[in-house]
Amino acid sequence: EEKELLRTRDLPARTLDDVPIRLAGNIEFAEEVPSLLAHGGEAVGLYRTEFLFMARGDLPSEEEHYQNYRRILEGLAPRPVTIRTFDLGGDKLPAGMRIAAENPALGLRAIRYCLRQPEMFKAQLRALLRASVHGNLKIMFPMISGVAELRAARRALEEAREELREQRVPMKDVPVGIMIELPSAAMIADRLARECDFFSIGTNDLIQYTIGIDRQNKDVAYLYKPLHLAVLRTLRTICDAARSANVPVSMCGEMAGEPVNALVLLGLGVTELSMNGPSIPVVKRIIRAAKASDGRVLLDRILGMTFADDIEREVREEMARRF
Ligand code: PEP
Ligand code: MG
Repeated sequence: EEKELLRTRDLPARTLDDVPIRLAGNIEFAEEVPSLLAHGGEAVGLYRTEFLFMARGDLPSEEEHYQNYRRILEGLAPRPVTIRTFDLGGDKLPAGMRIAAENPALGLRAIRYCLRQPEMFKAQLRALLRASVHGNLKIMFPMISGVAELRAARRALEEAREELREQRVPMKDVPVGIMIELPSAAMIADRLARECDFFSIGTNDLIQYTIGIDRQNKDVAYLYKPLHLAVLRTLRTICDAARSANVPVSMCGEMAGEPVNALVLLGLGVTELSMNGPSIPVVKRIIRAAKASDGRVLLDRILGMTFADDIEREVREEMARRF
């Protein structure tokens, strides 16, 4: 295992038919960067900034955020780092914080919460823009439900930029992307693609909202199926829209790091997979032995099937045959 890790760490994640896939890491703390690099991570695909709150239970200052972002950007440079703005609420609440809601997953969370707390949000955006000069930063907004919300978030970013410009603080241009994790965003991915620089598919929430199952509720966990036909169709809609608009698509939900899904994801045309560091070597081995064209054939075949159980079996058997 250790040996394989060292052997594959510096090899490119490129399919036999020459499709490059960027293998990136999901992190929650700056301390995870060395391990990510040791596993061959080529980028941070998702930094969950809300964990800085959750670890301490109160509001960190703009300066603390800046120091954290800077540390991660410098640790990865010149590789890209996608930092997601606060995804607070729902399943992610700091100890001392309360957001009253009957259905927290459907309530005031993530970008909705940030747009309601403009000063808090602006402090994070300023910290991000200040940190931008220390590496290759991309900013990503969570839980975008429509174009109006994306524009509001971008407006907040522009305001932060304006403030810093007046203070003559150095900044870089930063690509702005969004999480696609709501069915509404998936259905209008073509419109959203015109107004941002990249997509990242959050399958953890996308599956929750598509099938209507609480991702934390064990009683309905048996319905949580990444290869449900509705999920597959949704993923295809997103990826087709992105391809037409020339917008790169990452996937950063758990689905991205499950080796059994690798061929299906190649078939969809995902260009980056972001996962926990330790999953990278195995996924890389499969990608290097796979053809994206075979992924497209498999995808077409399973899109013609009906039952998630049959689709899962088909994918499992195909993967066992090939890898
Ligand atoms: C997701 O929803 O798939 C995702 C990556 O974000 P989180 O798990 O932090 O909600
Ligand atoms: Mg999510």
